[in-house]
Amino acid sequence: MPDEHDPAPAGPPTGTALFDAVVNLCKRRGFVFPSAEIYGGIRSTYDYGPLGALMLRNVKEAWWRAMVQERDDVLPLDAAILTNPKVWEASGHLATFTDPLVDCRSCHERSRADHLEPDASGALVCPNCGSADLTEARPFNLMFKTFVGPVEDEASVAYLRPETAQGMFVNFANVQTSMRRKPPFGIAQVGRSFRNEITPGNFVFRTREFEQMEMEYFVPPAESARWLEYWCTERLGWYRRYGIPADRLRLRPHDTEELSHYSSATSDVEFAFPWGWGELEGIANRTDFDLKAHSEHSGVRLEYFDQSTGERYVPHVIEPAAGATRTMMAFLLAAYDEDEVGGERRVVLRLHPRLAPYQVAVLPLSRKEELAPLTAEVLAACRTRFVCERDETQSIGRRYRRQDEIGTPLCVTVDFESVTDRAVTVRDRDTTAQERVPVDALLGYLSERIGA
Ligand code: ATP
Repeated sequence: MPDEHDPAPAGPPTGTALFDAVVNLCKRRGFVFPSAEIYGGIRSTYDYGPLGALMLRNVKEAWWRAMVQERDDVLPLDAAILTNPKVWEASGHLATFTDPLVDCRSCHERSRADHLEPDASGALVCPNCGSADLTEARPFNLMFKTFVGPVEDEASVAYLRPETAQGMFVNFANVQTSMRRKPPFGIAQVGRSFRNEITPGNFVFRTREFEQMEMEYFVPPAESARWLEYWCTERLGWYRRYGIPADRLRLRPHDTEELSHYSSATSDVEFAFPWGWGELEGIANRTDFDLKAHSEHSGVRLEYFDQSTGERYVPHVIEPAAGATRTMMAFLLAAYDEDEVGGERRVVLRLHPRLAPYQVAVLPLSRKEELAPLTAEVLAACRTRFVCERDETQSIGRRYRRQDEIGTPLCVTVDFESVTDRAVTVRDRDTTAQERVPVDALLGYLSERIGA
């Protein structure tokens, strides 16, 4: 097969060059587009293109696999985005889900006071014009407000959820009784959340609409410290399992001043972004704050009652809360690589096979009719288990290169010999090594290579 040999290490770019390379690749290869680009976009809002939609789905599925499918103590939920506004009153979001907003009197730029850097004299300065003439910080609520129904009055005000977590708390009793669960058990949910961020930016790192993957793990109060530790280890392991190297991940415990109003202890999983460490996930001990708050506001008891022992208590909650869109960006940054193959520079996304948009590309060596039936057979078989792409334009070398750039781990080439020997060539993205595999053994071979 005319492919390349001996990939020589060239190394990926770092810092801003890495960030630019990934943002550029996302646009060029259909991962992420500026939203409504034909109208000039809308600040820091993005649409996920064909490959981005596939990859984002894979990130969420990888989370779901580890958090729901592979366990028997976590149950899924899909709660509404628009809900009773009393939920946000009880949770504290109406009163305290704010960021400190400052205006620059000189250029009128708005910033988050807690994100500003002080100048040499210690004064906070505007990131846009450098002026220290800023207004006093005032709290700005991040929830998007809307109206439900045709009348726009106070009684019809509702909010787009700023986190998925509250859906799990308000359904605690429903889930616990309908599924007959005893703590420790968890409720998991993946979905959109909305925050009217003062300063969105850094591509999809901080956007106003994003996706979260959250799980609330309800435990007997005395066991909460142990479970917090357990979930920190588990979640760090998940990022490693899906390909982020250990030296680009860290667990950072919050200082007491940094803790949210509901938390007794929190650790963030952080990734080394090109601009420094940034949060991928917060793992918090939320104590009994949420269940108690919702009990008080709703008048409905939210607690666990063990009929056999007569024991009654309000469970404490350990919450691993991750962002799917932000995490997808981290996976892309960690996977981006450049090396040299056959004397040519190559861009390769070394994504975990389960995160790559396509797991398999099926490439007939030529468009000749002779290869069509076997190509169709191989493709149909592969599609029973994997997301596949068929690519038959341009030279095989070019096609390999295109698949490398979008992270496809395995290419299956159907050539003229394949028709007689019923074997195909499987080519590995990372090593470029090729192996001849009988068509009848192909699915088993690919499944083993791709893993879970
Ligand atoms: P930050 O400090 O970055 O504003 P946070 O601590 O408020 O984040 P959480 O409320 O803990 O974030 O949300 C859990 C996860 O949801 C975050 O770790 C992040 O991955 C994701 N997330 C939060 N806000 C955004 C956003 N505006 N855009 C993209 N992802 C977000």
